[in-house]
Amino acid sequence: MTTVPALAAAAPGAPLEPTRIRRRPVGEHDVLIEIAYVGICHSDIHQVREEWGAAAFPMVPGHEIAGVVTEAGPGVTRFAVGDRVGVGCLVDSCRRCAHCRRGEEQFCAEGMTSTYNAVGRDGAPTYGGYSTHIVVDENYVLALPDGLAPAEAAPLLCAGITMYAPLVRWGAGPGRRVAIAGLGGLGHLGVKLARAMGAEVTVLSRGPRKREDALRLGAAHFRATGGPSALDELNGHFDLLVSTASAPLDLDAYLGLLAVGGTLVHVGVPPGPSPLTVAALVDGRRNLAGSFIGGIAETQAMLDFCAAHRIGAEVEVIHAKQVDEAYDRVVAGDVRYRFVIDVSTLGRADR
Ligand code: NAP
Ligand code: ZN
Ligand code: ZN
Repeated sequence: MTTVPALAAAAPGAPLEPTRIRRRPVGEHDVLIEIAYVGICHSDIHQVREEWGAAAFPMVPGHEIAGVVTEAGPGVTRFAVGDRVGVGCLVDSCRRCAHCRRGEEQFCAEGMTSTYNAVGRDGAPTYGGYSTHIVVDENYVLALPDGLAPAEAAPLLCAGITMYAPLVRWGAGPGRRVAIAGLGGLGHLGVKLARAMGAEVTVLSRGPRKREDALRLGAAHFRATGGPSALDELNGHFDLLVSTASAPLDLDAYLGLLAVGGTLVHVGVPPGPSPLTVAALVDGRRNLAGSFIGGIAETQAMLDFCAAHRIGAEVEVIHAKQVDEAYDRVVAGDVRYRFVIDVSTLGRADR
């Protein structure tokens, strides 16, 4: 394969335009994946718009990839042509450091190789899933279990694992009160996952519009957070609060919602500082934590859990031409609940 169609931003904040990119030849341990669907994560927008600092351009975003293996290198053992697969936020790591050996490749001591906006271990820029094909080492490819439709499975590769990991780590389960702040791509999957784990789930959303959806997705309770005292009656209530907010929260107020010893885990990555008064932690011996995606083994465990519990994303499938408009709608909070690009609308690859 020489070049394949893709959507790229030429410069920070530039529109996503059709282009062609090179994919490396399929190596000994690589698989070639024909991409069917790719989710639009808010992190794509943060990076295309350089909200997290300097980024690499041209940029082909996309780290919620679902597709099918169309070629496998001679050394590939885990996948075969025709297998349904996924690729998430990382496509390589050093494989030797303590974190890699522990299956936490996202914390690789040499730095994980991000699916896009990074330099691969071969020295070439990495390009993500807004593209018809990708070549990935089989060790960084996930098996999509039967029963997960590809469009609904794609967002699991980032949004799903980003919620699953903290819910498991901080013990979402029967008898635990779990709040999910922000009902977007991550948040709606967080509700489904926490509910499936047996927790009592409350959605905290900026306004009343998403109430019915929250309850339908599995929340037991819903609170609109607007207004100065909207949350007062929930003070001291939650064992775990996972915030997906893409803009800074009033952390003092949200920490106040935790029971003694409770934990607020931030998975949203707002650009810039999020101010905090330390007394909000001291009072009630509360914990403030962050969580970053998940390793390959845990991502596979999450996919298997989702298949067993019939959990997929609620998606709005769009044409490649609609990506810029979709970005604006995500920023405006107008997505129910993940945009997924139908990659067949991008055109065909040369062979
Ligand atoms: P999204 O679909 O835009 O959802 C974010 C939600 O946050 C919105 O739906 C909104 O929910 C809430 N929100 C937005 N602005 C807010 C504000 N000013 N104050 C309070 N809440 C606000 O985005 P996403 O794709 O789920 O991603 C969410 C964040 O997680 C992004 O910052 C993204 O970069 C980050 N992320 C982190 C990881 C990780 O590994 N930690 C992985 C993926 C993404 P309501 O309308 O219900 O209020
Ligand atoms: Zn993401
Ligand atoms: Zn490593």
